[in-house]
Amino acid sequence: MVRVAIIGAGIVGLTSAVNVQKSIPGAKVTIIADKFDKDTTSAGAGGLYRPTAALVKGVPPETVREWVQDTWDYYTSLAMSPEAGETGQTLVPGYMLSDNQSAVQNQLFESIVFNFKLLTPDDLKRLKLPFKYGCSFVTVITQPQKFMPWLMRKFKEQGGTVEFRTVGKLDELAGAYDIVINCSALGSRQLVQDHSMYAVKGQLVHVKAPWVKTFLYCDDKKTPTYFIPHDDCIIVGGTREEGNYSIDIVPEVQEDILRRAGEILPQIKGGRVVGSWAGIRPSRDPLRLEKELLTIGGKKLRVVHNYGHGANGVTLSWGTSLRAARMAKEWAQEITPSARL
Ligand SMILES: Cc1cc2nc3c(=O)[nH]c(=O)nc-3n(C[C@H](O)[C@H](O)[C@H](O)COP(=O)(O)OP(=O)(O)OC[C@H]3O[C@@H](n4cnc5c(N)ncnc54)[C@H](O)[C@@H]3O)c2cc1C
Repeated sequence: MVRVAIIGAGIVGLTSAVNVQKSIPGAKVTIIADKFDKDTTSAGAGGLYRPTAALVKGVPPETVREWVQDTWDYYTSLAMSPEAGETGQTLVPGYMLSDNQSAVQNQLFESIVFNFKLLTPDDLKRLKLPFKYGCSFVTVITQPQKFMPWLMRKFKEQGGTVEFRTVGKLDELAGAYDIVINCSALGSRQLVQDHSMYAVKGQLVHVKAPWVKTFLYCDDKKTPTYFIPHDDCIIVGGTREEGNYSIDIVPEVQEDILRRAGEILPQIKGGRVVGSWAGIRPSRDPLRLEKELLTIGGKKLRVVHNYGHGANGVTLSWGTSLRAARMAKEWAQEITPSARL
């Protein structure tokens, strides 16, 4: 039996785990992590599917396209399934806005999301949206607080097991596992000494405003302002602070987010602040998705790295995890060449 360890229980680890269970039937799969569920970065993400090739620096656009298309196909199939209430995917109409035309015109958007349409100056005036350019489309929002527990349940129902601990070095797993999938995000700075990983802090406010039913993403400046409707609140953001490793909530930043939000969408001002959150986007240019063969004390450890998804972990995770599971299957075929995988 092939023994696979997944390091990490964020959205990338969980999607990798369920995809490996599928790609290597009969494998013994264990998720090892030192943070689960609400303690991960993934749990706090807005979950807006917003593919921008430019954000995955250093990856050929056709590769990014495959990753985001696979994620789109999977998330929309969940959104349209009877399970949608549990999995946390919803199809939501909304707007991308900017004073910079290139920020709203994007081939990936146009060809993947539903009903993409550029807005005319007249549309923008009638919608009272204070930007020069805009587009409207229907996208999928994933609520990680629902999707991650659903993935974990699915993983365990399929025989997966979980271990709560910090892995100091990959060497610790040699002998106990045949294949390791490294989904440790920012943890890879220590785990595999990858100093090209860097932090980009983001802060959010949770506002109870059930009358807001559309998403808005306004990206004209260094600091984006966005509105992402979840079941029980609107996720209002945001900030983009490169090199900031703190997850403290800064009250002045919160005030600034709410000020910007109120200027763009006055109807949010009538809402009640019910929470706030800050997290670190685990960033790397490009993200790392590749195989590595290590020999530790004479034992081979086959590794697949899948980390560094930055601001796009929800948008990319299903697609990159499918590739990681395929790479793990190739490793498994080397270990048991006669196995019909
Ligand atoms: C404010 C904000 C808003 C966002 N909004 C969106 C959005 O709207 N759409 C979108 O697509 N993306 C969004 N993102 C990005 C998204 O949240 C991340 O890209 C994604 O969560 C990364 O997932 P991950 O599984 O790689 O990392 P994480 O969720 O950080 O998980 C890493 C896991 O690795 C484990 N780990 C690390 N090191 C070790 C070790 N040595 N031993 C054991 N375990 C270890 C941790 O315990 C954890 O379980 C947002 C991010 C932020 C901060």
